[in-house]
Amino acid sequence: MSRVYNFSAGPAVMPEEVLREAADEMLDYQGTGMSVMEMSHRSKAFEKIINEAEQDLRDLMQIPDNYKVLFMQGGAHLQFAAIPMNLMKNKVADYIITGQWAKKAFKEAQIYGKANAIASSEDETFSYIPDCSDLPVSPDADYVYICENNTIYGTKFHTLPNTKGKTLVSDISSCFLSEPVDVSKYGLVYGGVQKNVGPAGMAIVIIREDLITEDVLPYTPTYMKYKIHADANSLYNTPNCYCIYMCGKVFKWLKKQGGLEVMKARNEEKAKVLYDFLDSSKLFKGTVRKEDRSIMNVPFVTGDKDLDAKFIKEATEAGFVNLKGHRTVGGMRASIYNAMPIEGVRALVEFMKKFEEEN
Ligand code: PMP
Repeated sequence: MSRVYNFSAGPAVMPEEVLREAADEMLDYQGTGMSVMEMSHRSKAFEKIINEAEQDLRDLMQIPDNYKVLFMQGGAHLQFAAIPMNLMKNKVADYIITGQWAKKAFKEAQIYGKANAIASSEDETFSYIPDCSDLPVSPDADYVYICENNTIYGTKFHTLPNTKGKTLVSDISSCFLSEPVDVSKYGLVYGGVQKNVGPAGMAIVIIREDLITEDVLPYTPTYMKYKIHADANSLYNTPNCYCIYMCGKVFKWLKKQGGLEVMKARNEEKAKVLYDFLDSSKLFKGTVRKEDRSIMNVPFVTGDKDLDAKFIKEATEAGFVNLKGHRTVGGMRASIYNAMPIEGVRALVEFMKKFEEEN
């Protein structure tokens, strides 16, 4: 068996230890005589899996007691709709457009109410985070929405926007559990899990209890009401049991590593290896304003499309895979989530140095 260094933006590399454990338990989960895939979501064994997963996530993120944790299907995309459907009481929301995912969420919200784009960095291909210290927040806005880490463009909000008292809603799909967060600063924080947490197809929504009400837009499908999931402890319907089980394993792995402070230090160290090289290279350069750089997704270019393609091809042959930038921006992107070891980043930099010498 040979594992590659997988720099995919998502679905992405998982901790090897977690995969091995899941493999060991595939045919017989802890003496139940069956796989978690074959197990009723109402069984005692699964109840323990989901309860522990929630508690471990609460411990890791220090989620306050007045927040609910919801395991929902449909990835992040379903939340683009669920958020306005559940939170738009005045039918007004403000969006900060820092990339394609924020824009998609904004466009979806426009279907349900008056969504305003109050800031954007589209003028420079989303290569920076706009100044959000004094934005024209709408007086009747139900919430202000951000995408905190922009997977495609490699930017991150290092300071949260001044929402002028309005509820902050944040998509943390690509920085989930990469560093500590103060959940109390948000009304709702959510992420698709397929980057730092588990397999694709699910979102975890962390929502303050007072935002969970019956008062949702009239045509909101039952499945998309937060109250339905909160009241049923995420077991309203048959959930993505196997995904929850895998997320739970990753939470336990994170706790074993020492928690989110440790992950932050590790992730910063990893990102520094790559950014330091990009800043000194004569061939490769980063595409993002320095102060807004993400420590999870690192886009870079040579400035020559053919050379980019040559690099991606040779890197793939050498076992550094999924380095192609998103189709909307081109170039390269290394996603270096929690499960990417520093050895992988160091090896990539060595490979880039060699490529630079030869080209
Ligand atoms: N938000 C962000 C920040 C993302 O990176 C992605 C996926 N790459 C999405 C939303 C969409 O996620 P999903 O495909 O799970 O709907």
